[in-house]
Amino acid sequence: MRAQLEKMQHQVTEAENGETAVRIWQDERPDLVLIDVIMPVMDGYEAARRMRSVSQDDWMPIIFLSSMEADHDLDRAIEAGGDDYLVKPVSPVVLAAKIRAMRRLDQIRKRLLEVSRELAASNRQLEMLSRQDGLTGLANRRYFDAYLATEVRRVARSGEPLSLILMDIDYFKLFNDAYGHQAGDECLRRVAGCLQSACQRAGDMPARYGGEEFVLVLPNTTAVGAAKVAAALSASVVGLAIPHAQSKVSPSITISQGVATMLAKTDCSPEALIERADIALYQAKKEGRNRMQVSAD
Ligand code: GH3
Ligand code: MG
Ligand code: MG
Repeated sequence: MRAQLEKMQHQVTEAENGETAVRIWQDERPDLVLIDVIMPVMDGYEAARRMRSVSQDDWMPIIFLSSMEADHDLDRAIEAGGDDYLVKPVSPVVLAAKIRAMRRLDQIRKRLLEVSRELAASNRQLEMLSRQDGLTGLANRRYFDAYLATEVRRVARSGEPLSLILMDIDYFKLFNDAYGHQAGDECLRRVAGCLQSACQRAGDMPARYGGEEFVLVLPNTTAVGAAKVAAALSASVVGLAIPHAQSKVSPSITISQGVATMLAKTDCSPEALIERADIALYQAKKEGRNRMQVSAD
């Protein structure tokens, strides 16, 4: 048999019993196993079972060779994990054909594994994209909603305050009208960069709330702390020095902000927290823009 296989250009490793076969199989991971049923120390059934029990992903064809012709011998061999059963003596033509068939199966299996790995990678990528705002790369509204809901629930458990900053670019419609939509988009990207830099702690999360409105979730942050972040953010946006000749408050792009904080002892929903930040933001706009307002509640 070795001579036959070598003539077919296969490299052969021999084992004199089932136990050695399992060991060699573990070390060398051959592409195909040809195994007798009756062997000293460990028979072919047990050896096949052990090879199969290692890993579902690690399939390789096992062909039994036996002089026993009864149906139940074949049945036991397949049950033990064999893929085929040949009665000795095996003709070289049959052996070669069986090996070809097994190789074809193995190629299909490998391709399937590859495809499922590719699919898993695409799913991860897709999952990431589904959380991201396409223009700015910040988290999108969908992800923000989920994140805020989690953090609101956490407040009750941790007892730590949670702050939210809602911000809106001042006179942005006029900016678009004067400089064009492309410039508007570029401005949004740069303001998003300021939000990203404003996030100093691991839990801080900036997101695009919609249009030219952004939001910052600040876990474990008091109103005083959030107001500091808002002040720094405002300064950082002014620091971009993006000219805005049409603005009625400044020669460059500015933002208005509303800050709301929830404490563990106050019962509060994510919607209520957003609402308070929104009211504060509206107040900041009304009082002249380019400023922040901390929610009174
Ligand atoms: P205010 O100071 O009161 O906030 O005035 P505003 O003009 O900024 O506010 P308004 O909500 O009236 O206008 C928002 C504008 O933002 C409308 C639109 O021209 C612009 N905008 C919203 N989303 C985008 C976007 O994705 N890209 C660009 N370029 N512009 C956007
Ligand atoms: Mg707006
Ligand atoms: Mg605006």
